[in-house]
Amino acid sequence: MITLKPNLTLPAAGLSGFETPLTEEEAAIQASVHRFSKEVLRPLGRELDRMSAEQVAAAGSPYYTVFSEFAKLGLDPALLADLPPEMAVRIESLIGEELGWGDAGLGISLGCAALPQMMAAGAGNAELVELCQGKIGCWMATQPDRGSDNQVFDFKRDWPAGVPANIGNLTAKVVGDEIIINGQCSAWVSNGAVAQVACVMMCADYGEGFLGPDGLPHGVAVIVPLDIKGVSKGKPLEKIGQRSLPQGEVYFDNVRVPRRFALTDQERYYGAVSSSWSHGGTLMSQTFVGVARAAFELALQYCHERRQGGALLIDHQMTRLRLGEMLRRVEAARAVARRSLAFARLSPQTHPYATASAKVTVTEEAKLVVDEAFRLFGGNGTTLEYPIEKLVRDTQSALIEDGENRILTMRLGLLAQQLYAEGWAQN
Ligand SMILES: Cc1cc2nc3c(=O)[nH]c(=O)nc-3n(C[C@H](O)[C@H](O)[C@H](O)COP(=O)(O)OP(=O)(O)OC[C@H]3O[C@@H](n4cnc5c(N)ncnc54)[C@H](O)[C@@H]3O)c2cc1C
Repeated sequence: MITLKPNLTLPAAGLSGFETPLTEEEAAIQASVHRFSKEVLRPLGRELDRMSAEQVAAAGSPYYTVFSEFAKLGLDPALLADLPPEMAVRIESLIGEELGWGDAGLGISLGCAALPQMMAAGAGNAELVELCQGKIGCWMATQPDRGSDNQVFDFKRDWPAGVPANIGNLTAKVVGDEIIINGQCSAWVSNGAVAQVACVMMCADYGEGFLGPDGLPHGVAVIVPLDIKGVSKGKPLEKIGQRSLPQGEVYFDNVRVPRRFALTDQERYYGAVSSSWSHGGTLMSQTFVGVARAAFELALQYCHERRQGGALLIDHQMTRLRLGEMLRRVEAARAVARRSLAFARLSPQTHPYATASAKVTVTEEAKLVVDEAFRLFGGNGTTLEYPIEKLVRDTQSALIEDGENRILTMRLGLLAQQLYAEGWAQN
């Protein structure tokens, strides 16, 4: 049925674009997170961007205010659990987008900080939830020699025959009631330089070696307090983008944690890997919709200020086309991000290659939008005076973060191959 409108009006357009009406609660949450992002995240993100990595992570740095300020919003993840599922998905996506709009690095930092506690809650382990309470967390999955290899789950199709699996530089031995950890994580671990607790995912030897019969390494997912004996940290990482996100190596020298700090038993390790990585993918997707929107808005504003060719930029047809392209991409990215979030939260059978593919789409679209905005600013865009250059750097990192986009896309193809082998798409 077609509902006939009495007249032609402009479309309903809110912070998150062409949105179907938000409930009062959704609109209120969106507005309060937007205010926080505008008044706290943006200025703080810009301030931290100009500081050295060491200054950002140092005690007394303004970075740490993000946690107390964010806490004032009262956005406890447990609140979402009480909402109708579809509404919870929409609210989670609205929050993630606003945080990304404010500052990608800080948005990611807030998300990673909460991850160990969320994993503990997911495992139903009250002791570990308590242990993570009020602490800055991180998710430790990659290592210097185990980056993309960390994503290999199908050894028959995705690893050369006869070559043993790469067990990486951070491993555990599970002995009796203890887990003994040695090695180091990669320098890329988000919050690595400041984290007080980690959700560590690594290859593990339960007494019969690291590799299982199909070549897939055994693993353990464990909550590790980072103030215990044997843990030390490297220098905070200097990098081009998301400089407000403190990253860095963490070293483990015969670190012993009780076996009850493990989030799962040996059999359910890859389920835990899958859940945490899917969570990471959805966080990245919502965040970079926000970044793309921020770039679009900056460009739209600039086109209303800058005159060339005898008119404001906005009055040139070519510039409207460029802005239209950008807005179209922001809308498309949002749709993909939200669909993948719904899949991750509502489907009984999710997969990290599926959520990672949304992260690829969103960050590639964000890259196109941000680059076009950058060009619309002309020479001004290349100066530190204008905020667009920061978005270019922040988005560049996102193409690698949580998995490099090309290898993630290859693994979506692998997923298609695996599903086809099970009969999918053969009707
Ligand atoms: C901003 C940021 C935040 C991050 N946060 C975290 C975090 O919180 N926790 C964490 O554990 N890690 C984190 N990482 C690490 C991130 O997950 C890795 O950087 C990423 O998975 C790629 O690994 P790598 O850097 O070792 O690159 P490599 O795996 O060495 O890849 C290098 C290149 O080789 C290609 N390649 C790799 N394997 C293959 C193959 N089989 N076939 C063909 N080509 C291949 C890749 O596509 C890539 O282009 C973060 C990274 C960044 C940049």
